[in-house]
Amino acid sequence: MHAPHRSATTRPLLRRTPVAGFTTRFAPAPTGHLHLGHAVNAVWVWGLAQAYGGRVLLRIEDHDRGRCRPDYEASILDDLDWLSLVPDGVRTTDFRRGPTAQRQSDGGTRYTAALEALTARGLVYACRCSRAEVGQPQYPGTCRHAAIDPASTPARRVRFAPEAPERFEDLRLGAQSQDPVQQCGDLLVRDRAGNWTYQFAVVLDDLEQGVDLIIRGEDLLDSTGRQFRLARLLGRGTMPSVVHHPLVAHPDGRKLSKSSGDTGLRELRAQGVPAAAVLGRAAMLGGLRDDSAPLDARDLGTLFRDG
Ligand code: GLU
Repeated sequence: MHAPHRSATTRPLLRRTPVAGFTTRFAPAPTGHLHLGHAVNAVWVWGLAQAYGGRVLLRIEDHDRGRCRPDYEASILDDLDWLSLVPDGVRTTDFRRGPTAQRQSDGGTRYTAALEALTARGLVYACRCSRAEVGQPQYPGTCRHAAIDPASTPARRVRFAPEAPERFEDLRLGAQSQDPVQQCGDLLVRDRAGNWTYQFAVVLDDLEQGVDLIIRGEDLLDSTGRQFRLARLLGRGTMPSVVHHPLVAHPDGRKLSKSSGDTGLRELRAQGVPAAAVLGRAAMLGGLRDDSAPLDARDLGTLFRDG
């Protein structure tokens, strides 16, 4: 077993540690193959679960029907098996076998029921704005009082009333305050193509699947306040804890993306790089230690315990 090294200057990884018995999730979107950025997230997710006693659910976030592909899902499942990252509950073999509540494209009726419940409370309206008309980042409320015929478009927004900002404590980054009304305004929950949006699907899934610790990259920090606001509207009483971890970047600062061919897990595997070497590299890229020595999937918890 390899003992992780961290330099003396490194701050503690977390300000507060998760409470044992949590449920977290690894939730890739099958819009491409897994790359080192996903491996970094996986190392944080499985590492924290091992170190502090948590369950890891696998969720396939294929809400965007135009961009997701079954072969990408198959490739994700294969790479997870290759890395020996084993989810609790629904396994990769269960995903291969057929429908599961943890694949978003199998969740249509759940999302519809939740939307109907919000609609019955007068919180939803149909929206005819295109992305270009909306502008960024805040929706100006164009269709809010326009009484758009719901039969004319599948697009729906949930009203966000002005209220106190969402305050929460990120276990790594500390106190946060976000005002969803300022940040994004009324939230799009289904788009003009009829796709459930990431924000809507992820909030309902985290609620229904009992996820009480969210571990994801810092690029999603801004989404947290709006997700908490929506979760409250959907009846969630206690918000999940959150950890947003550093993102992998190229040396020149560019965000690593699926288009960066040099970092695809399939490519690394095809080059003969062992799974433990990928996990070791991901641990370093994710700010968990200074070296990239091979790391077995069973030892990911040591990254957090030996700090
Ligand atoms: N599906 C998202 C992604 O692939 C992750 C969502 C989340 O962790 O909230 O980046």
